[in-house]
Amino acid sequence: MTSSHSTNATPVSNPYGHPLPSYLQADRLGPWGIYLQQVDRVIPYLGHLARWAETLKRPKRALIVDVPIELDNGTIAHFEGYRVQHNTSRGPGKGGVRFHQDVTLSEVMALSAWMSVKNAAVNVPYGGAKGGIRVDPKTLSRGELERMTRRYTSEIGIIIGPTKDIPAPDVNTNEQIMAWMMDTYSMNEGATATGVVTGKPVELGGSLGRREATGRGVFTVGVEAARHIGLDVGQARVAVQGFGNVGGIAAKLFAQAGARVVSVQDHGGTIYRDAGLDVPALLAHVAEVGTVAGFAHAEVIANELFWEVECDILIPAALEQQITAANAPRIKARLVIEGANGPTTPEADDILQERNILVLPDVIANAGGVTVSYFEWVQDFSSFFWTEDDINARLVHIMKEAFAGVWSVSQDKKVSLRTATFIVACTRILRARELRGLYP
Ligand code: NAD
Repeated sequence: MTSSHSTNATPVSNPYGHPLPSYLQADRLGPWGIYLQQVDRVIPYLGHLARWAETLKRPKRALIVDVPIELDNGTIAHFEGYRVQHNTSRGPGKGGVRFHQDVTLSEVMALSAWMSVKNAAVNVPYGGAKGGIRVDPKTLSRGELERMTRRYTSEIGIIIGPTKDIPAPDVNTNEQIMAWMMDTYSMNEGATATGVVTGKPVELGGSLGRREATGRGVFTVGVEAARHIGLDVGQARVAVQGFGNVGGIAAKLFAQAGARVVSVQDHGGTIYRDAGLDVPALLAHVAEVGTVAGFAHAEVIANELFWEVECDILIPAALEQQITAANAPRIKARLVIEGANGPTTPEADDILQERNILVLPDVIANAGGVTVSYFEWVQDFSSFFWTEDDINARLVHIMKEAFAGVWSVSQDKKVSLRTATFIVACTRILRARELRGLYP
């Protein structure tokens, strides 16, 4: 018996195996705990594959690395970095890298698990992985950021690679950081390996359309979901939390479709305009000053009021655990589209369901990014690059098909779209596990 089995901690619900090791039980109210609850909800629908469900509750591999760098002032700083490969049954690990002061192992484990589910939900041939560094990158100079990124890449270089695990951008990481990661890995390997990361600059084997892909996917499946509940997007009022890569692009596409984006919240504050914000002007403002705060053509409202803004569509596109039991009863929207990963707690999920508010879950709503990352990786391997029209058309096709499949499972089994997506995805993952069998 291993020491992990002799823990005295209360085991989480785990009908198919031994108690989970203590580090997997930690932080039950955090993202990993939320993920475990989501898995528990799906087990009754897995049929004979439930035998393998324990696989979903344990990351395959988790690496914690020390990332020391010399700061510009000559002192040495140490950062804690992580790379977690949750599951590789269906293909190499795939998932972003987050630089944020609140990153923890538990959070990265949850994000990696949601990547397994997401990649299976849209049926791209990947497992799930995620990485991060516990750092506020805004406190670093460009040189410090580059040194930290390169040292982190070198440290996780023992488990990543174009056929093993392929990182991508997430919160506070971007094309430049992917370029440094690609270069560092390539230097260590002695050969240029463009396929080791996605979300790279187009000049280095990045894909056209990748930057906008997650927001475009949010919009595409959002329109499908709205249609199913008789909501006309052209007339809709939309509120968006987070105005970065995901929220900013999603807002732009909804506004282009005729919707009124009435409120936007980011780390700097919350703005509101009943007649609809000028989204292109707001994007230009954020590009210049880094936040929606200070935008001249809007009122400022208290952050708490964001959750009760009169709207039809609410798009959380910032961080986890934003929609909670405290604010879910006040939400006015008919449709919540999860651009962010894990923005809704399970209690809030239940409240929204009781209130007949449709939640389009992260594991399908924001899968557009990884779908075009997959296209990027395929293009890198074949060294043949597609047109942007081609890419967008293929993205829309995959997203609509995935949504249709999930919608029909949710209708057949009378479950939420989240549980339906987990049923589709976990079935694919565990079927792959079953076919491969256990080694040795
Ligand atoms: P980003 O760094 O480009 O933008 C993050 C946004 O969130 C910014 O507008 C920031 O101001 C805002 N924000 C940060 N803290 C906040 C707070 N406390 N309150 C309100 N707003 C806050 O990040 P992104 O790439 O747009 O990612 C946003 C979310 O989408 C994350 O959950 C990420 O995991 C998820 N996601 C991103 C992608 C992608 O391709 N970029 C793909 C799938 C999922």
